[in-house]
Amino acid sequence: MSQTLPHYDVRISKRAKHARLQIKPNGVLEVVLPETMNPNQAANLIRSHQDWIFKHQQSNQTKQTNHEPIYVRPNSIDLPLLKETITIKYIASDINAYEEDNDELTVSFISDMAITKILQHWLKHRATMCFSAMLFGIAQEMDESYKSVSIRLQKTRWGSCSNQRRINLNAKLLLLPEGLIRYVMVHELSHLQHLNHSAEFWQRVAEFEPDYLIQRQKLHAWSRQQPYWLY
Ligand SMILES: [Zn+2]
Repeated sequence: MSQTLPHYDVRISKRAKHARLQIKPNGVLEVVLPETMNPNQAANLIRSHQDWIFKHQQSNQTKQTNHEPIYVRPNSIDLPLLKETITIKYIASDINAYEEDNDELTVSFISDMAITKILQHWLKHRATMCFSAMLFGIAQEMDESYKSVSIRLQKTRWGSCSNQRRINLNAKLLLLPEGLIRYVMVHELSHLQHLNHSAEFWQRVAEFEPDYLIQRQKLHAWSRQQPYWLY
């Protein structure tokens, strides 16, 4: 006899070692599978965890009806690095766009669903403006040179460095405290000498970021609590 399964998304993760289930802030059930696992296993996993899913989706719904609807718009966003709090105004319009004036961001949107995309664009723009100079400064301090830097909005990675000496940074870093942004930059710049996570690599990181272990832990915590308005 077949059973109806709840709706779910499957995500294949390079980093995941085991399969896991999670319920995203918008209430959608997600199955995270390591690359080595057959995606068809997702359904089995869900079947064997129906009780867990039901319980968590229930409590998630209660939370949402009590506190916030699904399309919550942030009224303000903190940018700790820039010591700025941006207040946001929303205007229903026939275009999707944003305009920034001092510390006020005006978001014009056609539908609620466009808001996330607009805020993503804005964040990427702001991050691009300030990360290039900051990375350059830290590279000088470390006596390193890289070929290029690009700022992207990535879901799971905070940064990366290629063997072509190209550095990528996640725009979401702009929402984090300055110490964490610095740690990610020192980390990626250290990969210019060691393209791995060997003891020598961590030594290089520690030279410029002695608190790197603490920063690393904090960063992991941030990865788990992403702001709801970005998705
Ligand atoms: Zn690394």
